[in-house]
Amino acid sequence: MNHEARDNCGLFGIFGEPEAVRMTYFGLHSLQHRGQESAGIASSNGQLIQCHTGIGTVSRVFRSGSGLLEKLANPIAIGHVRYSTSGSTSPINNQPLLCEYSRGQVAVAHNGNLINAPLLRDEYEAHGSIFKTTSDTEIITHLLAKPTHASKPDPLAHVLNHLQGAYSLLLLFNNHIEAARDPYGIRPLCIGRTEKGAYVAASETCALDAMRAKFIREVEPGEIVRLDEKGLSNRFFVEPGSVTPAHCIFEHIYFAKQNSTIFGENVHEFRKKLGRQLAKDHRADADVVIPVPDSGTSAAIGYAEQSKIPFDMGFVRSHYIGRTFISPDQKLRELQVKLKLAVVNEIVRGKRVVVVDDSIVRGTTTRGKMRTLRQAGAKEIHMRVSCPPLRFPCFYGVDFPTKEELLANNRNLDEIKEFLEVDSIGYQSLEGLLSCAALPADHYCTACWTGKYRIPVDRPFNKFAMEHYQSHMFDDFPQPDG
Ligand code: SF4
Repeated sequence: MNHEARDNCGLFGIFGEPEAVRMTYFGLHSLQHRGQESAGIASSNGQLIQCHTGIGTVSRVFRSGSGLLEKLANPIAIGHVRYSTSGSTSPINNQPLLCEYSRGQVAVAHNGNLINAPLLRDEYEAHGSIFKTTSDTEIITHLLAKPTHASKPDPLAHVLNHLQGAYSLLLLFNNHIEAARDPYGIRPLCIGRTEKGAYVAASETCALDAMRAKFIREVEPGEIVRLDEKGLSNRFFVEPGSVTPAHCIFEHIYFAKQNSTIFGENVHEFRKKLGRQLAKDHRADADVVIPVPDSGTSAAIGYAEQSKIPFDMGFVRSHYIGRTFISPDQKLRELQVKLKLAVVNEIVRGKRVVVVDDSIVRGTTTRGKMRTLRQAGAKEIHMRVSCPPLRFPCFYGVDFPTKEELLANNRNLDEIKEFLEVDSIGYQSLEGLLSCAALPADHYCTACWTGKYRIPVDRPFNKFAMEHYQSHMFDDFPQPDG
């Protein structure tokens, strides 16, 4: 898909480990695919929280020789990698977001989108509150600080009941971490334990594997898990089982790493099943199956297995071209796409090629890739997509372009085929997609294909919903062109 729909965010936290900060650094590295715009770590010695965040990847923000990890060294830590789905790429919006209130300090790391944040912010501002960011996450700190909330027996549980939308959260207090997940369990969050016995919370299990921590379980929808010196304890802020989950199935299709297990199922295996299903429904007479790497690779393997058409790597992806903060002109942009994804001419020349991708968003990047295949001598191109046509925006933490910009909006299959300049097109059906999933069909969110939003969105929300408040302050700040 080539980042036309942006990743959301990645969370990592660890309690009671002398090397907690260094392990958070490595944990964030393994979650880097979930966001490359900013990174940050907050740590506590049990009394005082320190925090450092910056724009860029984990290795850029905590570059070697900077001494930052040493300065932060404490036994309790949380970290965050961000792609902005609410608020622009500006240092003020970096996370963890550290603040002080009447009960002490708290640092917040959030994955998801709070759809009622603009409304709540308006209310708080009307009563004199001052916000320092343009992201939805900050409202959580204001809710926590409100005296009538702070005096409740369980202020966090009380506050979470005020939030609507998608949120997997890590909150670092002076002497403990709280890990929480919204009642629908839209974004993933799991708990593990290191070999030395320290408890870990992370967006995906790949971050646990990175430090040989053992997966214990997922944080349940509507649950808060506390990590402190006594170990793990939990409580629910909504009645368990009272809400049917709405896990984001797009996590399985595109966002999550292949070696992760989320929503009870390994991502690579799930994508292979999608490929097999796609081959059953949309077989093509072809000589070779090639993936659009990396997120299309597992599905292409499944497609090749099922169709008995040989699998090969017709595209090679360069991992050394990251996002640039300088907007190049159109020609340079095209060159950059070519450098990111090069064609192996020998694999496709004179062949009938099946290309498998996880999804198509705007379609312009996909068309560019199809053109490079033609230029390399592909005789026929049969495009196969492992999810249904994307037709609706996401309000729960994925930054899709507007409905009008989506390729499948108001286009039929023939028009899509023509636009992409391919010989045939085959999309996964919604039924096909859901038949591959481990959980019952109604346990997933599918709103970007169906337009049926499980959490009603009263007020249109996009990543710049709260931007008007402070945007003038950052007129000169370079935005990533991604
Ligand atoms: S709308 Fe799509 S991307 Fe957004 S949460 Fe639902 S399934 Fe995921």
